Amino acid sequence: TVSQIERLQQAGCEIVRVAVPDLEASKALPRIKERISIPLVADIHFDHRLALASIDAGVDKLRLNPGNITDPKKITQVVQAAKEAGIPIRVGANSGSLAKEFLDSDGHASAEGMIESALREVRLLEDLNFTEIVISLKGTDVPMTIAAYREIVQEVDYPLHIGITEAGTPWGGTIKSAVGLGILLAEGLGDTLRVSLTGDPVEEVRVAYEILRSLGLRERGITYRVCPTCGRTEIDLLTIAQSVQQELTDVMEALTVALMGCVVNGLGEARDADIGLVGGRGNGTIYVAGEATYHAVPEERLAKEIVRVVRGYLKEKGS
Ligand code: SF4
Repeated sequence: TVSQIERLQQAGCEIVRVAVPDLEASKALPRIKERISIPLVADIHFDHRLALASIDAGVDKLRLNPGNITDPKKITQVVQAAKEAGIPIRVGANSGSLAKEFLDSDGHASAEGMIESALREVRLLEDLNFTEIVISLKGTDVPMTIAAYREIVQEVDYPLHIGITEAGTPWGGTIKSAVGLGILLAEGLGDTLRVSLTGDPVEEVRVAYEILRSLGLRERGITYRVCPTCGRTEIDLLTIAQSVQQELTDVMEALTVALMGCVVNGLGEARDADIGLVGGRGNGTIYVAGEATYHAVPEERLAKEIVRVVRGYLKEKGS
């Protein structure tokens, strides 16, 4: 788990959640916590002893629906422990696991049902004078999820954890997440977020960063401008762009790299970027900070050369 979290941290993850399915898992939490540098959230279902053990282990937040712990005494115990530890509790609803009473007359999840379900959890905590609450309303349906978040802020004023749940495999899931989260974030909704993809979680963090970068909400990492290519392109720009992006995934400094097929739009973009490529006939010119620095670099060496130039540029900037 620690090595996976380290990979996520490296990719830019800022908060991590781990499932705590049994007491054995809760015993591992202190050792995980001491070896990572981002907040650790314990994901608990049903068993209040796991919540208590996680709080004891020093986690930074609980993800837990008090409604799943049916005994009021046990709920009070967990809430009291969270209060003493000064940690928040994330409650919420997921469209795939809504209780029957919150489904519509056809048995489907709806924005209203998700809100009602989440508010029931919120009230349970508020009744115990606990207000360090984060709300999540993740649905698989993008318009429904957006509607739920938009509406709940009319009702309560707690931070929101946003996400499109079970969005799918990376291609489709990325698009769904970008549309859903992009709209919410552009409206100022969302305090933490999760991109939910079937695959390596590192990919989720990369997608999340790309969404945040597109909206100017995070600056870390390289922003690429790559032309779509056309009849004027005389280099294999796609292969060059893929290779450059692959080689530079570890870069966390904010930087703009423009990879352009020819001079038509290329000159302006390359001059405007920190590092730019303008393609020619089987070769290319590399721009550094707006200046044409390396001329007529043969096509087969372009990707390697751009990577070298980017690393040199970062070194010079003292990164
Ligand atoms: Fe075509 Fe040049 Fe525009 Fe790229 S920059 S799409 S090669 S005109």
